[in-house]
Parts: sequence; structure tokens; C-alpha cells
Amino acid sequence: MDFALSEEQRAIYETAQAFGVENIAPNARQWDAAGTIPKSLWTEIAALGFGALNVRESSGGAELTRLDATLVFEALSESCASVAAFLSIHNMCARMLDHLATDALKERLLPDALGMNCVLSYCLTEPGSGSDAAALKTKATRTNEGWALTGTKAFISGGGYSDAYIIMARSGDDTPAGISAFLVEDGADGLSFGGLEDKMGWRSQPTRQVQLDDCRVPAENLLGVEGDGFKYAMAGLDGGRLNIAACSLGAAQSALDKALAYVQERKAFGRTLDQFQALQFKLAESEIELQAARTFLRHAAWANDTDQPDATKRSAMAKAFVTEAASRVADTCLQLHGGYGYLADYGIEKIVRDLRVHRILEGTNEIMRLIVARSLLQ
Ligand SMILES: Cc1cc2nc3c(=O)[nH]c(=O)nc-3n(C[C@H](O)[C@H](O)[C@H](O)COP(=O)(O)OP(=O)(O)OC[C@H]3O[C@@H](n4cnc5c(N)ncnc54)[C@H](O)[C@@H]3O)c2cc1C
Repeated sequence: MDFALSEEQRAIYETAQAFGVENIAPNARQWDAAGTIPKSLWTEIAALGFGALNVRESSGGAELTRLDATLVFEALSESCASVAAFLSIHNMCARMLDHLATDALKERLLPDALGMNCVLSYCLTEPGSGSDAAALKTKATRTNEGWALTGTKAFISGGGYSDAYIIMARSGDDTPAGISAFLVEDGADGLSFGGLEDKMGWRSQPTRQVQLDDCRVPAENLLGVEGDGFKYAMAGLDGGRLNIAACSLGAAQSALDKALAYVQERKAFGRTLDQFQALQFKLAESEIELQAARTFLRHAAWANDTDQPDATKRSAMAKAFVTEAASRVADTCLQLHGGYGYLADYGIEKIVRDLRVHRILEGTNEIMRLIVARSLLQ
């Protein structure tokens, strides 16, 4: 058992970290305020191979292991969790495209998806179904040329911003086996978007409803096999959950690094804050939480990479544990900054805001516990 990162893994981490420090961190606050991320960032990130982390080499991707991909998200999140998490969604979709798209669709879209000239969004949630995603109602009806989709997708990261959408819709009966996956390209007839959601965190990412009104989709845009869409959607989430956990970890680490620097400078009662044992213990507790979270996450990623039978359970456990530990650490670090932690200039309040949603999406942490409990009791 070797817990150390290999030289190659360290290089992956350091490349992502350096990119973030140079290109993301200096702009993160401005993008947060503006509510958007310039698309030029994605083509720059893609030049490093980060737009196709889990796409097969034979399709032009980096074909990283799950574990190696988490290193990218952990490192980028030290600069901005919102940017890194958006990249994670694109990567989840790019992998689905690589594995499930028809040759014609792949030829048309995959090169642009890898280069992130085509940014991808994932559309499962609906206004009436989130945790119970299999209850979705968006309808897919056959037409002479392919399919017509009608329904509404809610909370879509990149809605109205992305270039193509992977949409789970009901082409058959009311069971999960009645759901299929489709790729809908921006500009398709019958595709429109709701207003920009005003959110607590992840503010640099536009979130909107994706509305489908008799939206025409060519037959070649069905992904994989009709009726297997829910299976694909869930399989995508195993990796997505690891990535979201990695995003929490990287951002919380950066909060701890900021707090460590701050307590050694800030004075109260004639001493620097690091001299108070009560505060030293907070720092130690944060370090313990983050180290445990990192080890647990990497173990879950390994379980996925090696197709362990409990890989889904491990992804769920890691997602719940890491996102909660990271939120606690970020909150502690804000507290260690006193009133200054509450000000945007110090960079901590944004981390607290951005990490909150990691406990809600890609399956809420209650749903993660449901997955774990089911697996224990089966
Ligand atoms: C900023 C943001 C971005 C998002 N991006 C996307 C995206 O790109 N694509 C996408 O498809 N979705 C996206 N989502 C949607 C997200 O995945 C859902 O919000 C999430 O799955 C929860 O669904 P819900 O909001 O409908 O809550 P509900 O399902 O209504 O849940 C409400 C509460 O009840 C709990 N609950 C529900 N059922 C159970 C149960 N059986 N046992 C115990 N507790 C339960 C939940 O955990 C939660 O606390 C995004 C959400 C947000 C906030």
C-alpha cells in the first residue's frame, strides 16, 4: 500500500495549481460579482487537457484515472471552487459523450467538447423532481427525424451559457427504464432558458432553467441505448461526486492556508492570535479534518478506478464526509479572521458561500446517506 502521489500525479496537481494561481485566483471575485466566467478561460484550461480528463485517449482525451482527476479539481479549487466545479460538470458530460454518442455525433461535437469550444451542461433535475430524479417528467416523443422533447429542467449549471446540454427525458414508461439521454445543442428549435437564478454561492456560474417546448432533436443525438438514460445519469454522478468532494477539499485547504497566515500576523491582547491555545486547537482540528477527508476521498477514487464492488457507496460516503468537513473548516477559518473574514477582500466568505451547495447537489448529503444505508442493509 503506497499512499504517496507518484511523480506524474504531483505534476498533474502542480500544473492545475499553477494555472489556477495565474489565471483564476486574480479574477475569481470579479467573476463572482459579474455572474459569469469568460469563455476564453475554458479554451485555455482545455489546452492543458482538462476539458477531457476522463475521455479515452483513443478519442483524444487525457483518460486520467478518477483519482488523478480529483487532483485537478482539488488544485484548481484552491483558486476558485465555482470555476473548478463547473469544469467538473463539463468533464462528466464529455465522458458521457465519448462513451455513449453515435459516431456521427462524436465526429461533429467531441473535438469541440475536448477543446471546450463546446461547453457542456448536465440536465437531470426538474422543478418537481430533484432527489427523486427518476420521477422526471420531461417527455421525449419519436418524430420522423428523431425526437421531440417537452419539459423543464431546473437549476441547470451553465443554462443559457453552455453550447450543448445532456438531457434526461422520458421516452417510455414511468419507471427509471423509461428514461433516455439526449444531447441538445444550443440554438435547437424549441430550446429556451429561464431567468438567471440569484444564488448564495457558485455565483460566477450562470444557473437557469432549461425549457424544452417541442424541441426537435435528430435521431443521432440519442445517447447510448433508449431506456438506459437513468443508468447513464447515475453512473456519471459516481465520478461527479468525487470531483465535487475534491472541489470542497481544495477550497477548504486554501481557507486554512489563509487562516494560518492571518493568525500569525493579527494581534489581540498584546499577542499574535496563534499564541492562544484555543485557536491553535481550531487549526489542529481543521488539519485533522482535511487530512482525513483527503485520504478518504482518494481511497474512494481508488475504489472507482479499480471497480471495487462498493465503489458507488464509497463515492457517496466521500462526497458526504468531505463536503461537510470542508464546510466546517471553511467556517472555522472565517471565524479565525474575526470581522475581516466576513469581508469579501479576505477571500474566506466566498469559500464559505461556494462550498455550501456541495452538500446539496450531485445528490444531497441525505441521499448519500440513503445510498450508504441501503448498501449496509441489503
Ligand atoms: C447551484 C445549483 C446548481 C445545480 N446544478 C445542477 C445541474 O447542473 N444539473 C442538474 O440536473 N441539477 C442541478 N442542481 C440540482 C440539484 O442536484 C438538486 O437541487 C438536488 O438534487 C436536490 O433536489 P431538490 O432541490 O429538488 O431538493 P428535494 O429533492 O426537494 O429535497 C429537499 C430536502 O429533502 C431531502 N430529502 C429528499 N428526499 C429524501 C429522502 N428520501 N430521505 C431523506 N431526505 C430526503 C433532501 O436531502 C433535501 O434536504 C443544482 C442545484 C443547485 C442549488
